[in-house]
Amino acid sequence: MKIVYSKRCLEFKRRGHPESPERVGKAAEFLRERGYEFAEPEKCREEDLLEVHDKGLVEKIKEGGFHSMDCPDYEDIYGYARLSVGGAMKAAEINGFSLMRPPGHHATRDSIGGFCYFNNIAVAVEKLGKRTLIADIDRHHGNGTQDIFLGSDTVEYVSLHGTGYPGTGIKSKKNCHNHLFRRRVGEEEYMEILDELLSLGKEFELLAVSAGFDTYKEDPLGSKIHLSTESYRRLGQRLAELNLPTFCVLEGGYVPEKLGENIHSFVQGLES
Ligand SMILES: [Zn+2]
Repeated sequence: MKIVYSKRCLEFKRRGHPESPERVGKAAEFLRERGYEFAEPEKCREEDLLEVHDKGLVEKIKEGGFHSMDCPDYEDIYGYARLSVGGAMKAAEINGFSLMRPPGHHATRDSIGGFCYFNNIAVAVEKLGKRTLIADIDRHHGNGTQDIFLGSDTVEYVSLHGTGYPGTGIKSKKNCHNHLFRRRVGEEEYMEILDELLSLGKEFELLAVSAGFDTYKEDPLGSKIHLSTESYRRLGQRLAELNLPTFCVLEGGYVPEKLGENIHSFVQGLES
């Protein structure tokens, strides 16, 4: 699986913010040393964003001057956020893994949140227009992705997450299949629930993975889910059993020293 990456995504930062350039930069270095091939993304166009976002949100990010604790108004964040969406689109095109920031799954049709400006995976899925299963393995619920696809005839959304931010995903709704872990779980229980959620009895043409690694046991933004590096291989293997063309988009994962290794383990599982 090729890694879609541009080092331009390391150019914006705010001191002390957990969504730091180091997390992605170190992961890119690790994966390069492991011999992965890399592909460069391009910025998506404004009209791509409008496939899933309201004009008002797009204008707000484009113009800047907004205030958000979670989503700072970095200089040219509009350009960086479009490059990250472009990463997801490229990954969808080549069945790759987009290793870009900012992440996307908390961006709804009309709002930013949780370090996300535009919903990278949602734009990529919407552009392809295929019958798609989105598997969101980030430790947080992808409220933005649910908001965008709730009630869709072509997309089913599956998410396993812990308590806390953003507080959504408590129950399943229509085509959005959620499981909230309220107490501590390890790999075994996680895999059992994943199995249940994946038993949808539907046919798909594509698997899109919102690949978050803040389920890692030592993650500072983690919660009740405690997975190990080895767990990601098993998770990848389980998703590979679906036997679908697959692409992945990075979401969270806040241990810079482990992110690359966890991604590598996951991709090995996907490719086994
Ligand atoms: Zn997360």
